[in-house]
Amino acid sequence: MTQPLKPVIVGAGPAGIRAAQTLVAHGLRPIVIDESARWGGQIYRQAPGNFARSSKQLYGFDARKADAILSAMDSLLSKVDYRPNTLVWNAEGGQLDMLHEGHTSVVDYTDLIVATGATDRILPFKGWTLPGVFSMGGAQVALKFQACAIGQKVVFAGSGPLLYLVAYQYAKAGANVMAVLDSSHFSQQIKAVPSLLNQAAVFAKGVYYLAWLKAHGIAIHHGATPIEVMGTQSVEKLIWRNSQGAHEIDCDAVATGYGLRSESQLADILGCKFIFSNAENSWIPQKDVAGRSTIQHVYFAGDGAGIQGADAAEWAGELAGLALIEDRQLQQQKNHASRTDELAKYLQKRVAFGRGLSIAFQDPQNWARQTTDDTVICRCEEITAGDIRQSAQSTGAQDVNRLKAMCRVGMGRCQGRMCGPAAAALLADCTHQSIEKVGRLRGQAPIKPIPFVQSPALKNTTPDTEEAN
Ligand SMILES: Cc1cc2nc3c(=O)[nH]c(=O)nc-3n(C[C@H](O)[C@H](O)[C@H](O)COP(=O)(O)OP(=O)(O)OC[C@H]3O[C@@H](n4cnc5c(N)ncnc54)[C@H](O)[C@@H]3O)c2cc1C
Repeated sequence: MTQPLKPVIVGAGPAGIRAAQTLVAHGLRPIVIDESARWGGQIYRQAPGNFARSSKQLYGFDARKADAILSAMDSLLSKVDYRPNTLVWNAEGGQLDMLHEGHTSVVDYTDLIVATGATDRILPFKGWTLPGVFSMGGAQVALKFQACAIGQKVVFAGSGPLLYLVAYQYAKAGANVMAVLDSSHFSQQIKAVPSLLNQAAVFAKGVYYLAWLKAHGIAIHHGATPIEVMGTQSVEKLIWRNSQGAHEIDCDAVATGYGLRSESQLADILGCKFIFSNAENSWIPQKDVAGRSTIQHVYFAGDGAGIQGADAAEWAGELAGLALIEDRQLQQQKNHASRTDELAKYLQKRVAFGRGLSIAFQDPQNWARQTTDDTVICRCEEITAGDIRQSAQSTGAQDVNRLKAMCRVGMGRCQGRMCGPAAAALLADCTHQSIEKVGRLRGQAPIKPIPFVQSPALKNTTPDTEEAN
């Protein structure tokens, strides 16, 4: 007798929700696990239940899409085993280790769809660990989830589509946006237009945010690099530089980020192969067009295996679901071949758009070379750029995992999720290698911080006398 299927989806963002919908449509009842309290993922993050803000206020131009995806999941709730507030922190031998409300447990799976999304990509500068400096996504979460601004006078510094979007959302909500500092040059952004037109509606939204900010008198500087956040207890001003020299802005908060990076630690722990993406200048999990990983019955969907955005995450989620159905022969391939082809075509167009984004949004020139020795790179272990350079030189470390073993960069609570890209860029610079060559920090369990809790097994063996105490 064949074993019943037990599909598990990690992540209830656009990718995970569309994957779940597809599996349910084919008669399966997946377990859907998400560490957030409510479904929707990053872009369609829901406010707490007792907050009353309309979709339009929360999601702007994306309100209709948000309503569609959120209500899709709502209608699935009785057909899936949904587990919110549940972190998957390890994966091994067909099992996932989870943490829910301080308690650990294990779930078996026969098929796994990893739809874990992305986090901000950070390039540190002096003072970025001062209170008042937030990642770009973190600043957006404060606004979207809690309706709070990160400060009274906020500067947005970095690059990537979120830079203009979050600055616009803050200004629209009434916050005081002091300036937008974009490390990319405007001429690059013009060069990217033909590729960006592959997703004309998304491109148009980006142009609108930029035009709106300008029309409302918000200073936008291109080719601008943050140099140092000054302040004794918290942010007081930001020093930044462009081709005309150094400048300073009074502010009490800074949001920074240089695009996004895939949350790929689970892929790593599962033993999936990775490939180097030139467009993202980073290592990402290898997958075929439908999301099949290099491990049988493990699939990827959405930003967790390469940054493609929310629409692509929905298509990829459906594709991964269809791939699972096909691999398990739950339906004849020909029945959904045309839908698979259609989704694959959409995704292909998104790849061309992604190339445009990588031309339009670039890191500060020579970031690694220009980062001063006293800049903290790994905030968990307080490792500076100087420590990294010195360690590379004295130990001959050529690979970022070797560097980690030698100087502890990426060994702290965040496991290199914040400092990994910066550490790799610095090592590449001081050893005269490419980022591809220095490799990527390997994921380790627990992939995110978990508390020390008494395991149920230990609890059962606790003597009665102690229980009575
Ligand atoms: C902070 C942030 C804000 C963003 N805001 C916007 C925006 O406003 N507009 C826009 O167009 N794009 C935005 N993006 C990009 C956009 O979120 C993505 O393109 C899109 O949401 C990708 O969908 P997804 O389903 O792949 O991932 P996500 O929407 O990120 O969903 C992934 C889900 O997986 C869960 N998860 C991750 N790891 C685990 C784990 N180990 N255990 C359990 N659950 C886990 C997360 O809680 C999350 O709900 C943002 C990205 C970030 C990081």
